[in-house]
Amino acid sequence: ARQFFVGGNFKMNGSKASIKTIVENLNSADLPANVQVVIAPPAPYLEYANNLVAAPTLKVAAQNCFDKSSGAFTGEISVESLKDIGLEWVITGHSERRTIIKESDEFIASKTKFAIDNGVSVILCIGETYEEKQAGVTLDVCKRQLKAVSDILPDWSKVVIAYEPVWAIGTGLAATPQDAQDIHKSIRDYLVTSIGKDQAEAVRILYGGSVNGKNATEFKDKADVDGFLVGGASLKPEFVDIIKSRL
Ligand code: 13P
Repeated sequence: ARQFFVGGNFKMNGSKASIKTIVENLNSADLPANVQVVIAPPAPYLEYANNLVAAPTLKVAAQNCFDKSSGAFTGEISVESLKDIGLEWVITGHSERRTIIKESDEFIASKTKFAIDNGVSVILCIGETYEEKQAGVTLDVCKRQLKAVSDILPDWSKVVIAYEPVWAIGTGLAATPQDAQDIHKSIRDYLVTSIGKDQAEAVRILYGGSVNGKNATEFKDKADVDGFLVGGASLKPEFVDIIKSRL
């Protein structure tokens, strides 16, 4: 069985004070031993947050990285630096980086491979925009985003996929649990053809987009929803309810 996974993407939010409150709240929340939890504070707070972590199931992720170890790449984040401060996780391909920063499928694939090759696990985000959903190309978009990665990355054992429909992010309009299940199943069926049956069965597929402490439990019986990637609610005490939503 795939281990339930809950990620918290703080995006460009927070301060030392607020991040300290969040991590200490998680440390004292008596988190379930069988749920993997990864929080992603903004880059300037990564080491600070990681040093505050005490809960055994809680890890810290960067929200982004670059596809070279070092050099003249002003403003970029090195995977080597992430490892140097003790991190084991990075998020790649978040829709805000795809749409606002204009990162391409190929660039996202390249940094995903670079992180994995250098021993850092990846939360790889995929998902369609509202226009793409209206045009009926949701699965085509997800396949294209995944194929860019599977074309260059054979081993998916350190990858967690986050399906985050762009229209559901920050809107309060989460996908219905059944719609999420259906697309997750289609994504997994597609992965059988690209990375093979064993890897496709093993890879976690998270749902992201307006998940909160209330609606998280509604996904409980969805076989292909292996967890969540949470934005706004990960900054609030209800994040603990999402982590405990499968109990
Ligand atoms: P919200 O939970 O705020 O909709 O954001 C989801 C997300 O983008 C997580 O990466």
